[in-house]
Amino acid sequence: MMRYLKIALILFFSLAFFPSISRAESHLVRVAVIKDAAEADLSVRSAYRVLALNTNEELYKGKRLWHTKVSLAEGGINIGEQNFKIYGVRIQPDKSPSIYLNNRRFRGAIDIIRQSNNKLLVVNHLDVEEYIRGVLYHEVAPWWPMEALKAQAIVSRTFALHQAKVNAKQDYDLVSTIYSQVYGGRTSERGRTSRAVKYTKNKVLTYSNKLFSSFYHATCAGYTEEAGKLWNINLTPLKGRECQFCRRSPHFHWKKKVSLQDMEEALEKAGFKVGLIKSMEIVDKDISSRITELEITSTRGKIKVGGNRFRLAVGPNIIKSTNFTVEIKKRQAYFEGYGWGHGVGMCQWGSFFMAREGFNSEQILNYYYPESKIKDFSADYETF
Ligand SMILES: [Zn+2]
Repeated sequence: MMRYLKIALILFFSLAFFPSISRAESHLVRVAVIKDAAEADLSVRSAYRVLALNTNEELYKGKRLWHTKVSLAEGGINIGEQNFKIYGVRIQPDKSPSIYLNNRRFRGAIDIIRQSNNKLLVVNHLDVEEYIRGVLYHEVAPWWPMEALKAQAIVSRTFALHQAKVNAKQDYDLVSTIYSQVYGGRTSERGRTSRAVKYTKNKVLTYSNKLFSSFYHATCAGYTEEAGKLWNINLTPLKGRECQFCRRSPHFHWKKKVSLQDMEEALEKAGFKVGLIKSMEIVDKDISSRITELEITSTRGKIKVGGNRFRLAVGPNIIKSTNFTVEIKKRQAYFEGYGWGHGVGMCQWGSFFMAREGFNSEQILNYYYPESKIKDFSADYETF
């Protein structure tokens, strides 16, 4: 009898004090899916609870929501007819996936937050494995070789968990655009990409037993870039290396015509003082042929601009890489360049062709992140 009592007591206490025991291996990420908006359209197709963000207190219980307007109200948040006098609420559905935001379907829960600029922020909370399932469709393509999909799954997981550690004190860990990883929720999941996530479950890239930011880009066009040339990062796996694999990438070579007026406006907006541009000269390139410094001569004099800053100012999808030449004719700048992206870490199209040639995901990752190791993620990992 005593034995049963003891077992019952152990069971009781373990359930009482570790209610999340079944989720012990779940690692949550917080993705900002709507930012700076005036309103959003929300449906919840299961019963749900509205919780206060800071205290977790239950504020409301609902059955379901059908195309309901979420907006800001005086001192709070409106969800349809309901008004909550609080800066942020969590919508916790009973079933997942049952949240629809602006007609996209999402797994997990969402936080609706009033930003300090009085705009709406919506953050999707979900398990990192579910999150990557919504990333792969956008970052690569479901028809890619399985080993390249697996490499991307490990890299995307590592990137997300690293961001989650670094941003622990912020309202969210990641955005859903190219500035972290493009994420489209449950709507973007496909069979093959989800299989790649499953095959690599919980696997991350580490260097000396720590997580690092596993940057990647579309096409390097010959050499990947050393992270230290762009950011204050000095790590062996991100030192850059030769890549002969992406020569047949559709993004290997690019051309773009940009009017000088558009460029002047973009540079002005980014804080550079330029008048009418007269000439542009490449001052310096690094070993990977990427431009480190440009000199722009305008009616307001000469300015020096870093290659990466120039690319981000004019637009990262207009100036696809910093490996380019430029010619000015009749108020137009004609760019011709190689590769797409900042060039740091894994070259995605290189990985595509490596997988086609028979390399597996581990070999691909070892190639692009020298001396890194694939390990099972654990919450106590430190980060670089
Ligand atoms: Zn490459």
